[in-house]
Amino acid sequence: MKIVMKPGAAQAQIEKVIEVIRNNNLNPHVTDEGGPVVIGAVGDGYGVPRETFTDLPGVESVVDISQPYHLASRPFHPRDSVFDLGAGCVGGEEIIVIAGPCSVESRSQILETAQAVREAGATALRGGVFKPRTSPYSFQGLGEEGLEYMAEARAQTGMPIVSEIMSQVQLDLMVKYVDVLQIGARNMQNFNLLRAVGETRTTVLLKRGLSATVEELLMSAEYILAGGNQRIMLCERGIRTFETATRNTTDINAIPVLKGLTHLPVLLDPSHSTGEADYVMPVARAAIAAGADGIIVEVHPDPAHARSDGKQSLKPEAFAKLVQQVKAIAEVIGRRVAA
Ligand code: PEP
Ligand code: MN
Repeated sequence: MKIVMKPGAAQAQIEKVIEVIRNNNLNPHVTDEGGPVVIGAVGDGYGVPRETFTDLPGVESVVDISQPYHLASRPFHPRDSVFDLGAGCVGGEEIIVIAGPCSVESRSQILETAQAVREAGATALRGGVFKPRTSPYSFQGLGEEGLEYMAEARAQTGMPIVSEIMSQVQLDLMVKYVDVLQIGARNMQNFNLLRAVGETRTTVLLKRGLSATVEELLMSAEYILAGGNQRIMLCERGIRTFETATRNTTDINAIPVLKGLTHLPVLLDPSHSTGEADYVMPVARAAIAAGADGIIVEVHPDPAHARSDGKQSLKPEAFAKLVQQVKAIAEVIGRRVAA
């Protein structure tokens, strides 16, 4: 349920509503974005009637939310969520471009890539230091050493840094270094991890699971929102289908579908969704044309020798071209790439 307070409602009236929410075994979520205060009453209490709140002093209206993802839904938060990443905003007019290698491999590799993607026009730097690999014998990432190199790259370029967290054991370390915590496809339904990042106020990039529906993705976002962390970017990264010509199948539909269902920003990862460098640029263009709020692209100075995902990594020159094309498409639809 969504309880909208009258403009200028007194603090005591807000507190009374919160008390009644708690007395009904629901959890209050207060949103105060300058307009009237909105209080979400969420939890396993769908038997609670609207009338419980309609007559309380200071209450303007009470709206039933039928979606199982409550805080993530459009009816709960009709306006797009827009938040600052420290290098432009996501979710509004601006489009963000996150770029960098799949994995941080060495100090020189990440510093060189960071400079190159920055010059090409990237908004933020990606680089995995804890890698979810199919084989336990494949390169697993540099861990904290890699985070130190990422932090150095941020200091040199001014770009915020994005890196994947695989377990809540890594949380303290990760929040110390990164601007954005990436939750990978394989962990989209790691509910303990979702709850843990929900307790932080660090921005989260939540990727869609390999076989997850749009609704399951939104339910995972709800776990994070329920903890009070509202800084979530959703990311379509391709799903498993019968098609084998590409690593995954880009679900372009998911972009407008998600934009309709939720207020959260929506990104696309054309690198993992195609698995092939040649397809990254056309699918990145499609993402922007379809209304994505950003893209995340793998870039490597020497893809042939990358320790992970070289096949789908762009060389810096190709990435620079991609940014130019993305900028052109953004302009056509009245948006711009965050500088
Ligand atoms: C990655 O971004 O390198 C990654 C492992 O992505 P995903 O979780 O989408 O497979
Ligand atoms: Mn990768």
